[in-house]
Amino acid sequence: MKDDYQELKTENLVILGSGPAGYTAAIYAARANLQPLLITGFKEGGIPGGQLMTTTFVENFPGFPNGVQGPALMDLIKAQAVRWGTKLIEEDAISVDLSQRPFTINTTSLTIKSNSLIISTGARANRVGIKNEKLFWSKGISACAICDGATPQFRNEELAVVGGGDSACEEAEYLTKYGSHVHLLVRSNKLKASAAMADRVKANSNVTIHWDTELLDVSGNEWLEKLKVKRKKTSHEDEILVKGLFYAIGHTPNTYLFSNQLSTDSKGYLLTKPGRPETSLEGVYAAGDVADSEWRQGITAAGSGCKAALAAERWLAKNKLATLIKRKELEPSQAETTEILEISNEDNFNPNKTWQKGSYALRKLYHETEKPLFVIYTSNNCGPCHILKPQLQRVLKESNGEAIGVEIDIEKDEDIAKQAEVRGTPTVHLFKNKELKRQWKGVKARSEYKTALDKLIN
Ligand SMILES: Cc1cc2nc3c(=O)[nH]c(=O)nc-3n(C[C@H](O)[C@H](O)[C@H](O)COP(=O)(O)OP(=O)(O)OC[C@H]3O[C@@H](n4cnc5c(N)ncnc54)[C@H](O)[C@@H]3O)c2cc1C
Repeated sequence: MKDDYQELKTENLVILGSGPAGYTAAIYAARANLQPLLITGFKEGGIPGGQLMTTTFVENFPGFPNGVQGPALMDLIKAQAVRWGTKLIEEDAISVDLSQRPFTINTTSLTIKSNSLIISTGARANRVGIKNEKLFWSKGISACAICDGATPQFRNEELAVVGGGDSACEEAEYLTKYGSHVHLLVRSNKLKASAAMADRVKANSNVTIHWDTELLDVSGNEWLEKLKVKRKKTSHEDEILVKGLFYAIGHTPNTYLFSNQLSTDSKGYLLTKPGRPETSLEGVYAAGDVADSEWRQGITAAGSGCKAALAAERWLAKNKLATLIKRKELEPSQAETTEILEISNEDNFNPNKTWQKGSYALRKLYHETEKPLFVIYTSNNCGPCHILKPQLQRVLKESNGEAIGVEIDIEKDEDIAKQAEVRGTPTVHLFKNKELKRQWKGVKARSEYKTALDKLIN
């Protein structure tokens, strides 16, 4: 925690959500000495860092002439917000009471009072809702091609994407890197994607577009094998054999916490004053996709986050509700950036280093260490991996050298991932004396890894 932080009984400003809108609002509010508290979100309605954590190259965010990876961009915006004094709570907000001032926000473990609120909870991916969806979730069905596309089970296999918008086209294109062929299932006879994106996917001979086709259900044994579809023009039912199915059928705004408290449109998006961030309640502002069903871009979200913070700052000042922090140094210290880790080999391998990378380190440690060993399977563009790695590293640091971690990139070490039956990233395995003690798929609360590790150490 920074030296400049002051304990406040009632926060000046709480920001909900850690996408471009939330972090940009935090940068502005922190630089205005408001010491905002940002609740990042954890698994409700998205992931920390927001939707850009699930994409590869962002080519249209100003300032990056050669493009930037979505997760890397979010790491930078976060670092900028933290550098200026934003306090982070890595949890979900689970209820909000706006009926009394100060407002009350309950997270998974805390109750927070705040004079003002910026809602930047974005939007979450929709599910199709077919009968066997739950059965084959993570066993062939995924809502994130970018996160899971490199999984060994999808390599050189036929894959499918459902949807007809930009995300669907982007995912179909992306999956041709891994699958032998991609089937794009489109319910109507046209794509809703931008012209450039639609043209690209139509021109790709590795993508077959199935027009007027509805997904009815899926089947398989241990893993997804078959899609049942209906050709809408003829009502004929058909089967498509695939090993992977990726959903890209749009988003729903994360406004369930505010129902009956704030005005929304018919689709649930928060209503604000035209062109402004004020919601239907004074002191509550909305920014980003949660209040924008039309533009939905990183830069528009960031821009609206800026507006929301400036509006909140003015409102707090006008109502004499702001407690400003006094900085010890005018200029905060440099932002923390992520260390780039070299892959371990014969020359640089160190049996006592708490975090290493690659198959050489894994083989050595698996056979030789007596310490509990975390193996984290990641892939290059996996946003959730960006969130998980620092958490696991913290758990290892807290173990004071009693445990060790190895990171395996499933694209570089495909055989190892296959052998370990990894079905998506991130996956974490915890070993002790070559025995698999626990495994996790996706990002879990830090306490889960810590509790499992403590049991092995004590
Ligand atoms: C695959 C894909 C590719 C994209 N590519 C681009 C691109 O190239 N360029 C571009 O400009 N835009 C792109 N976009 C759009 C862009 O990602 C969004 O417009 C932008 O992220 C919206 O930002 P946001 O801050 O409003 O919300 P989000 O990014 O959706 O972030 C919302 C945040 O709120 C949090 N949250 C939700 N519920 C809660 C809760 N209850 N408590 C606390 N926190 C909560 C979530 O965890 C998340 O951190 C892409 C989107 C997708 C899905």
